[in-house]
Amino acid sequence: MTDSHPHPTGAPDQAAPAAPEAAGKPPRRKFNITVYEAWCKRCGICVAFCPAGALRAHETTQQVLTNQAKCTGCRQCEWRCPDFAIVIRPAGQKPAAPAAPAGKAEGKE
Ligand code: SF4
Ligand code: SF4
Repeated sequence: MTDSHPHPTGAPDQAAPAAPEAAGKPPRRKFNITVYEAWCKRCGICVAFCPAGALRAHETTQQVLTNQAKCTGCRQCEWRCPDFAIVIRPAGQKPAAPAAPAGKAEGKE
């Protein structure tokens, strides 16, 4: 009996797995992050809980800065914000303003 194995040294027969984008995976969904500045008290809770690094606080003003390209849409920030000041929506879907607490004006995107 002859051994037809092409790798007599024991090297693997298969090449390394293909990269995810080459493996036919669908493109990642995109999300819009809206911070209602008038409601945000810049407490940093959303920044601390964002697992994707999509939020950061401005060095001096503590304003919440967003990087939508990193957002996975997990909504941890939205659920944890005590002031309902941050809203996540799929890209292309207009965010509905949360019910305004008395005396608070609508913020800007
Ligand atoms: S958790 Fe809410 S109030 Fe606090 S910084 Fe984030 S958006 Fe602003
Ligand atoms: S939805 Fe998740 S990933 Fe996107 S900004 Fe909020 S906490 Fe970060």
